[in-house]
Amino acid sequence: MIVSNRMRNSIERGKPMAALFTAKDRLTQRFGPDDVYDFSIGNPNVPAPATVKESILKQAQELSELELHSYTPVEGYPFVRKAIAEHDREKFGVDLTEKNILMVAGAAAGLNVVMTTLLDEGDEVIVLKPYFAEYAVYVEHAGGVLIEVPTQEGTFRIDVKEIEKAITRKTKAVLINTPNNPTGVIYSEDELKELADMLYKKCNDLGIDIVLISDEPYRDLAYGDEKVPFLPKIYDNTLVVYSFSKSLSLPGERIGYITISDSMQERDLVKAGLATAIRSLFVNAPSLIQRVVADCINDECDVAYYKRNGETLYEELTKIGYECVKPAGAFYLWVKALVDDDFEFAKIAEDHHIAVLPGSAFAGPGYVRLSFCVAYETIVGAIPHFREMYEDVCG
Ligand code: PLP
Repeated sequence: MIVSNRMRNSIERGKPMAALFTAKDRLTQRFGPDDVYDFSIGNPNVPAPATVKESILKQAQELSELELHSYTPVEGYPFVRKAIAEHDREKFGVDLTEKNILMVAGAAAGLNVVMTTLLDEGDEVIVLKPYFAEYAVYVEHAGGVLIEVPTQEGTFRIDVKEIEKAITRKTKAVLINTPNNPTGVIYSEDELKELADMLYKKCNDLGIDIVLISDEPYRDLAYGDEKVPFLPKIYDNTLVVYSFSKSLSLPGERIGYITISDSMQERDLVKAGLATAIRSLFVNAPSLIQRVVADCINDECDVAYYKRNGETLYEELTKIGYECVKPAGAFYLWVKALVDDDFEFAKIAEDHHIAVLPGSAFAGPGYVRLSFCVAYETIVGAIPHFREMYEDVCG
């Protein structure tokens, strides 16, 4: 037997999910390529800003091969971290320097680094349902145990009382994601303050330290007045994980960073842990693309494109009669399934040429997720199919 039992289990557990991601191929075979509406995958479809390509060309021309391709410092180049710190200092009105920033190969890497740094075997990490399914993998790989907690029914906002009930002496972290995949919700400063107050009290009562981990790859995809606050201002022991996958449309380049503020308890030790985890997991941010994000730190992809997509899909589906959560950010619409079983509803959608992901893939049964990082024409073309499906199911 060559492959470990742990990996065999992971492969088996991943199989039903993998099948969900092949809907587009199935539909294309059934209906042909021009009459299929794929809302299943969250792959950015807006191109990176032109400045990204300009920067890549500039770096390739101006730097020697050795400078371009050498190993980088574990935490990332100081000048890159400085550019990011200055940008975020201005944006959030907080005191940040390069010492507060560690570059990593995207948010997924950042979260793995954080889990590896914080968790001992059996430590518990609270996540809020529905959540990005990969969290289970990140937590379990670091020896932790994932604890699922409900959010408020219908609005999917933080339910502080439910989190409080789930906290035990083994709780090491609460992991939140704002703007949220899959609901599009952005948590308000008030609800985060309420969460922070409860965490401070629980830590004090139980004599434990709980870290708040904020997963923010969609931070800059926010469509209205609601913005993502700087979490370490609200709760001292916060680690923020950011990524350029969505804001600069660079998911394949694997680039992001972790922010650790000065208010973090045992800051230097936590930082040393994060740096050690980056090295041991070998998820250092790639050299060329670090330089590029420093050049393009004030740029972003065409966020207005996603905004129009989200508004159109939300308004049109709501008009038909679907119950949807209005997306404040990210690029997902969370829609109540028209039948109880969301897997069955996803199949019904396929019969109507539409690919969606069942909410159960995010521990959110009874709902489906529509990714609106698609061509605007896909949304316009899909509306009659959504209408027909509604009439077929609801009469
Ligand atoms: N967290 C959430 C909620 C995501 O949706 C994703 C990717 O889609 C990630 C983390 C991973 O992002 P990255 O591409 O930066 O690794």
